[in-house]
Amino acid sequence: MRLLLVEDDKALGEGVRLGLRQEGYTVDWLEDGASAVHALLSESFDLLVLDLGLPRLNGIQVLQQLRKSGSALPVLILTARDATEDRIAGLDAGADDYLVKPFDLDELKARLRALLRRSAGRAQSRIEHA
Ligand code: CA
Repeated sequence: MRLLLVEDDKALGEGVRLGLRQEGYTVDWLEDGASAVHALLSESFDLLVLDLGLPRLNGIQVLQQLRKSGSALPVLILTARDATEDRIAGLDAGADDYLVKPFDLDELKARLRALLRRSAGRAQSRIEHA
């Protein structure tokens, strides 16, 4: 499973990358929104873990561009902002789930497993209908 992590906080990004690698993911880590959009549109990932407060393009803009391209990639947003409006904006822009910082790494892992199960289910039902 290849996962893209977009997080500009170096300590947090390093911790999440290590934790997810131990879980068996191949983790690409980018630190700004514009690089994330470029990677998402040119490469293939199974999951996106996206911070909202990012340099160059914010997480909501990244998500909007991803969804505009027609991608159904499972997306979990990570944010320090615990304001309800930010979470709603993220979900409305096409996020599948969110976690508010500070979060427990084990909870992040469990939520990513759940997202993968759901996306596998969607893929399977598409095949069955076809
Ligand atoms: Ca940030």
